[in-house]
Order: sequence, then structure tokens, then C-alpha cells
Amino acid sequence: MLSDKINIKKAEDKAKRKTTYGDRYYSEPIPKFEIPDESMHPQTAYRLIHDELNLDGNPNLNLASFVTTWMEPEANLIIAENNGKNFVDNDEYPQTKIIQNRVVNMLARLFNVPKEYEFTGTSTIGSSEAIMLGMLAHKWNWRKNKGIDMYSKNNPVPNVVMGADVHVVWEKFAKYFDVELRMVPMEENNYILTADKVKEHIDENTIAVGVVLGTTFTGQIDEIEKINKLLEETKKEKGWDIPIHVDAASGGFVIPFIAPDFKWDFRLSHVRSINVSGHKYGLVYPGIGWLIFKDKKYLDDDLIFHVNYLGGIIPTFNLNFSKGSSMVLAQYYNLLRLGKEGYYNIMDGLMVTTNYLSDLLVKTKVFELLEDEIVLPIIAIKIKKEFEKYFTVFDISKELREKGWLIPAYTLPNNAEDIAVLRIVIKENFNRNMADLLYSDLIQIFSQYSEDYKNPDDLKNFKNQLVNIF
Ligand SMILES: *Cc1c(COP(=O)(O)O)cnc(C)c1O
Repeated sequence: MLSDKINIKKAEDKAKRKTTYGDRYYSEPIPKFEIPDESMHPQTAYRLIHDELNLDGNPNLNLASFVTTWMEPEANLIIAENNGKNFVDNDEYPQTKIIQNRVVNMLARLFNVPKEYEFTGTSTIGSSEAIMLGMLAHKWNWRKNKGIDMYSKNNPVPNVVMGADVHVVWEKFAKYFDVELRMVPMEENNYILTADKVKEHIDENTIAVGVVLGTTFTGQIDEIEKINKLLEETKKEKGWDIPIHVDAASGGFVIPFIAPDFKWDFRLSHVRSINVSGHKYGLVYPGIGWLIFKDKKYLDDDLIFHVNYLGGIIPTFNLNFSKGSSMVLAQYYNLLRLGKEGYYNIMDGLMVTTNYLSDLLVKTKVFELLEDEIVLPIIAIKIKKEFEKYFTVFDISKELREKGWLIPAYTLPNNAEDIAVLRIVIKENFNRNMADLLYSDLIQIFSQYSEDYKNPDDLKNFKNQLVNIF
């Protein structure tokens, strides 16, 4: 037998076996439960981890996430050069802190803080931290304004009003910080928070209304300007001065460039804090977010800790203490490198691709858009009734995954949970060619599932393409 002739080294020789690719770990189990007794060669450790991670999805085909998957080589250099700097060591790395403050300046102005205000802000790990800190500040102000003794047993319960279209972090905030969550349910054909609904839910213990510029579920925008007007009227009528916190995690770097006249930001009287994810359309890798207050007076000094550490007094307003500096610096890199011109061009390009892809998706005849108007580079689609007997969005998502595409399917929140959608987030490294490829894959999937699926023109074109290639 051939196998008798193959000279496989005996087990006892294995430990000595060296290959060009790595060493003995390639034929032995790798350490998973205990720290190994012995060291290994750096290349071996690298290869082991690197190869295992090939089983992860490809970030470039990840249309599920808003989070940046590609940056320029020069940005990668800045990141690599600064990975060893703890951001909180202000005394050692003063310039890093100064650069953070420059970004806060730029964002406050991007969000149109009126001149008479003294804005302030900070970098965070992401929008979640920024939202929790922002809301904590509003809770603090509510308590102080009401003269509430925090240790008294008879305190009123503070509440926060928001739509069911918000991200899970809002529920997290309410639970972690003991605030009543007044979440306005969605309705069929209305997936945003409206001023009418806000009116029904606010009272004298509302610490803030949370509104979203680009919801996680459908990419739409709450009625921010109308809600602001309602809160102005409420203040006049009832004396309740309720602030708005805008969750601009996904929209805060898009709308100011492509629709600068659209009012959602500090131009509105009750908008007192805004968060944005630097790692979404700020075009930086995870984790960087930003929190901006319209004025210092909205962030009570009690909440800022002045830590005497490593040779200087450090003011901090963050949940975590230590964190990396690289993403803060990478954000500054993007702002310098791209400028308003660059951000505009990229966001405009994203919208062009988004509209192109959404037209293709409608052309399949299987999908309909959840909302006709697309305002951010996000497409939410559902399956038309007549195709529901063949497949669900969950089937489609699974089939696409097999082809490498990462496109999530999910049901909408409260009261609209019978609506299941696919959500596609368009990022900078998704181009028109990719949109065509995705379309072809979809057509192929539909025809597998349903004998009846006919989209003759498109199918013919698709087949022609194949004929031309071979
Ligand atoms: C992504 C997102 C968040 C959470 O942001 P992280 O930066 O991931 O912590 C909050 N709100 C909205 C609307 C989001 O899109």
C-alpha cells in the first residue's frame, strides 16, 4: 500500500518537527484552557491566531455593521505609532489631549453651536458611553434644579422619553442609572418618534427626550425640529425645561455634509447634548465616540473628577479610566486629511451607491423599501407579500452569508415586530461593482427558492454576463 511507503515521523519525533510555516503546534492541539508552560516563537503565535481568524466573516463584505472596516495607510501608521499611549496620561502625553480638544472644537462647530455658548465635550469609547454620560448629566441637572436630596427615600422617579426606534444603549442607560424608561412603541408605517407621542409621555420629571438622527433599524430621523417646538411650548405653558439629547451615532457625520440646512443640532433651542460615533461615518476604526454639550452649564462640575495622577491634575468625565489614544488621533487625521470637502465627497458618494443599490433591490420585484425616502446610507427592505410563501428575510440573509455577504435580518421593535427586514449599511469601501455582484447573487438565490421567480430581463442580463465571461 502506498500509505506504508509514506514516511510519517513517529509520535516521539513530533516535538522536534519543524515546518517552514510554523512548528509543532500545527500537528498538536493548541493551548485553549491553560496558559502554556513554555513560550512559543512569535511567528508561530501570530500564524495560529491569524489563521484561526480566517473563519471570521470578511469585514469588507460586512454590510451589517455601521462600523468602519477600512482606513488609509497613513491613518494605520498613526494608529500603530500611538497604540502604546494611554489616553488618560495627560501629563505624559499632553499633545494627545490637546488634539482631542481640537476635535471637540471642530465637532461642536460642525453641529452649529451658537457663538454665545461655551461648548464642552469629550472623546468616548463609542456612542454608548457618550449617551450614558450625556444622559447622566441631564439626570444630574434635573435633580439639582428640583433641589432633590439624593439620599431621601421619597424622591420622585426621573424618566426619559424616547421612541422604540432607539438603540439598546438607551435601555441600558435607564436600567444602569435608575431612570424610568418611557419608550414610545412603533406603529405599522411609522417607525420614528413624533412630537405628538412625546407630548403624551413627558411630565415634570422627564430628564430629557432622546431623539435619533438615523435610527439603527431603518436609518430614519425622528421629528427633531417639531419635538423641539413642542418642548419650547411646554416650557412656556408648564415651566418644565426639558432638554433634548440627539443620538447622532450614525447620522452626525453624514447630515451636516449632505444636508447642512436641515435643522437637528444645536441650532434648536432645546438640543443640549449630541453624541456621534467616530467609528461609524467619522470613518475611524472602533472604538471612538464623541459627546458634545452645547454649554458648560449643562455638564455639572460635580460630575467631573479631578484626579491627581502621574504628576498632574487630570479632569475626567468618562466611565472608563485608561483607554487607547490611537483612535482619537485617527479621528483628527481624518478631519485634517479629508476636510469638509472630503467628508462631503465620501458621504455624497455613499448616497449615490445607496440609491443605486436600492433601485436594484426594488428591480428584483421581491423587495420593497420600508420607507421611500432614503436619508442616510442605510437601506431597510422587506419582502413583498406575494413572495412570503417562498422565503423569509432570514432565509435570504442565511443564503447571502454562504456567499460571503453579511446582511442581517431582524424584526422591528414593539408594535411593529411582525415586520421583518433586511438592513444594508453602505460604507466607503462598498462600490457600484459590489452592488451589481450582490444583485446577481440575490437573483440567483430567488430562482433557487421559487420555480416561479421570474424577472426575465434581469435574469437574461445576468446569464448574458456569464456567457460573455466564459
Ligand atoms: C451604533 C449606535 C449606537 C451605539 O453606538 P456605539 O458607538 O456602537 O456604542 C447608539 N445609537 C445609534 C442610533 C447607533 O446607530
